[in-house]
Amino acid sequence: MCLHPNAGAGVCNKVISAHSIQRSSVLERIVDSSNHVLSFYPPSLDTAGRLKIQPVGWREASTFTGFCAKHDSLVFHPLEREEFRGTERQTFLAGYRALCHELFQRSASLRSGRVMDDFLHAGRADRIQALAIKFHDSFNASVEAGLEQLRECKRSADEHLLNEEYSAFSSMVITFSGELCIASTGAVSPHQDFAGAELQSLQNLEERIQGLFCTTLTTKDGGAVVFSWPRTSAGPKFVSSLITKSGDDLASFFGAVLFYVCGKHVLFAFLVEIAVGPSASAAGVFSE
Ligand SMILES: [Zn+2]
Repeated sequence: MCLHPNAGAGVCNKVISAHSIQRSSVLERIVDSSNHVLSFYPPSLDTAGRLKIQPVGWREASTFTGFCAKHDSLVFHPLEREEFRGTERQTFLAGYRALCHELFQRSASLRSGRVMDDFLHAGRADRIQALAIKFHDSFNASVEAGLEQLRECKRSADEHLLNEEYSAFSSMVITFSGELCIASTGAVSPHQDFAGAELQSLQNLEERIQGLFCTTLTTKDGGAVVFSWPRTSAGPKFVSSLITKSGDDLASFFGAVLFYVCGKHVLFAFLVEIAVGPSASAAGVFSE
């Protein structure tokens, strides 16, 4: 089903495997000679129980069936077809696409959790099963609470999208020069900033969790990491602590941040390159 606010029968055309990351400029830049990128997604474990890195064809990488072809093209053409210059519209859309991707992933997670419900409640109610059910129920409750907050965030973002009120999201754009070797998209609800100061408690499911979205884009000279967030959020404190980082290891630091924020939805060319590039000539643009 298409996630566009005006979606409906007779309005939408075919739902496509839309890329959550800029398809032509970002993904084409990080493919290897066989047109594959490396990813932790879909998650699977190696013999030591660690997430396995696996090659994925770039056309399949980071796709989700969240929009019909018409709305995907209509909404995201400023990211796909125009040079990224960090305009309010582009940074809003980068956040909006990450929000839709997150909503799509969490909805899928909840659906798979419901399949587990039937499985867990079958059979004898012994102590191990009761513990598994308790753990599973609390996991489901947290997914549902997070999902409801994401839905609310999307309802608000939908209104801004339709009214072209792109300033409704704040943003920080960090640009890098040099070859891009890592790409990602995702959402984070930080409980601490990078200096260790508490931003919010994530324990109480009744509390509104404040989140922000992160996306990698390409620029004329290299790449950009875009953080965007609804104006009332913990975002400003989180990104403020981020931009106090400086020095030669800035690019590597941001590589690590992408893994922290986006987890398994990070795509990359070669792990070793994360440590050395792109060249660390970063310029932060913070708009609030
Ligand atoms: Zn549609």
